[in-house]
Amino acid sequence: MTMGSVEIPPAVRPFLENAAASIVIGAEETTAAAGGEIPTTDPATGALLANIAAGGKADVDRAVETAHKAFAGWRRLSPAARGRVLLDVADVIDEYAEELATLETLDNGKPLTESTYLDVSLSAQIWRYFGGWTTKLGGQTLPVSPAVGEALVYTQREPLGVVGAIVPWNFPLMIASWKVAPALAAGNTAVLKPSEFTSLSALRLIEVALEAGLPPGVLNLVTGLGPEAGQALIDHPGVAKISFTGSTETGRRIVTASAGSLKKLTLELGGKSANLVFPDANIEAAVQGALNAIFLNQGQVCCAGSRLFVHRDIHDEVVAALAAEARGIQLGHGLNEDTQMGPLISARQLDRVEGFVKAGVRDGATLVCGGERPGGALAGGHFLEPTIFTDVRDEMSIGADEIFGPVLSVLKFDDEDEAVRRANSSVYGLAAGVWTNDLKRAHRVARDLEAGTVWVNMYNMIDPAAPFGGYKSSGYGRDLGEESLLGYTQTKSVWIGMD
Ligand code: NAD
Repeated sequence: MTMGSVEIPPAVRPFLENAAASIVIGAEETTAAAGGEIPTTDPATGALLANIAAGGKADVDRAVETAHKAFAGWRRLSPAARGRVLLDVADVIDEYAEELATLETLDNGKPLTESTYLDVSLSAQIWRYFGGWTTKLGGQTLPVSPAVGEALVYTQREPLGVVGAIVPWNFPLMIASWKVAPALAAGNTAVLKPSEFTSLSALRLIEVALEAGLPPGVLNLVTGLGPEAGQALIDHPGVAKISFTGSTETGRRIVTASAGSLKKLTLELGGKSANLVFPDANIEAAVQGALNAIFLNQGQVCCAGSRLFVHRDIHDEVVAALAAEARGIQLGHGLNEDTQMGPLISARQLDRVEGFVKAGVRDGATLVCGGERPGGALAGGHFLEPTIFTDVRDEMSIGADEIFGPVLSVLKFDDEDEAVRRANSSVYGLAAGVWTNDLKRAHRVARDLEAGTVWVNMYNMIDPAAPFGGYKSSGYGRDLGEESLLGYTQTKSVWIGMD
């Protein structure tokens, strides 16, 4: 099996050949009840990798029912025993890291180093972090003053029931992990619906998790299209909470669809994050940080630093350095060792991003580098050159809309107040970056930016302990950290009459 010049590693071939049975209910791997399949392709070549099951309502119904049956036992398992299971899943992710990273690269296109050191490594850390939480999730005793008599009041954190996790294609394994691991740690069971573009790593994850001792039914997987499998999960009356990461448009649909059932929701949506470079910054570090902020994962990152605000005094110097570096970024298949940037996820995404590039030119921004599809050996994949625009105004579509591709908009500013005001003028508020060596400015700007995460002199850092999520139209609720764990619980106050 070859894909252009890249051979599918023999270790993953048997798995790919059996991927059509990608619905996992309990311990059973099965095809879709209605029999449909979805092709999943390598975005670097367009070659077919595997067919996955096109699950729908009947599959979701069965998965939710199975998750319900497993809930009673899972929630009653001792916290230590539940934690042990999560820790074992973490270990097995590490054990299968090479295979999981290979699948992620084949399916998503990202360079193997990114899949290995970011997606897979962080996924293991996330399961380990939440495995440690099961024995620490306690309630409180409260100093109440009842109108009559005396009472002891304590709270306990209880699981919600069955959680539906719907995840996108940009960090398939990592985002699945950061929803499912805290949900399970808190005693819930779950049904995972991965993106139809990238379901392979979720399937392998659940296989190795079952091998590691995850009780069948605690985590179930229904692959399929959003409007079918995803919609069935949202509509299911037996699902207590939907934890969703994806586009703002789908997020809005979920809010509307869940109005009747009043399901609990966590929504991680789009972004147009501002990255601010002040003249007192370490320019070299800021340039490297700005490149990482926009070109990691081909710019298909919800918190991508896609609006780079640069102070007028250093603007030309910063742009020259950025362009020189961007022109040198090696595009290619993610499995090739020298590849620094892979393809976009699909032909449709490439068209969309290219549409933004054209709009930028039309609106009068200056295209400094990139903007073209590379030809030659890469012509079969969904590649776009790393692209940088200057002379971008806030109201241009490349200055305001989420592009979700390797397109950087550079905007000039004159003073701190202006930079913060313009950074905050976005409808989004997922993340922001600040590059400065002035301690007071760092804290002042971090305080004033309207974003769920602010990185100072660093960018794109994620840790299981640090909550991640959006202000404004970037969503509500948080993934990761204690806060995400609490989001998978409900609080019960218990009153004991003491008279
Ligand atoms: P998407 O909304 O199209 O799809 C996300 C998931 O929702 C997929 O599993 C999809 O199948 C499912 N879905 C689609 N339509 C549905 C429907 N009608 N009902 C139920 N489920 C449905 O988003 P995408 O294109 O996969 O991902 C890109 C978007 O995700 C970007 O806008 C990006 O900003 C956002 N994102 C946000 C974060 C974050 O943490 N805030 C992280 C990653 C990606």
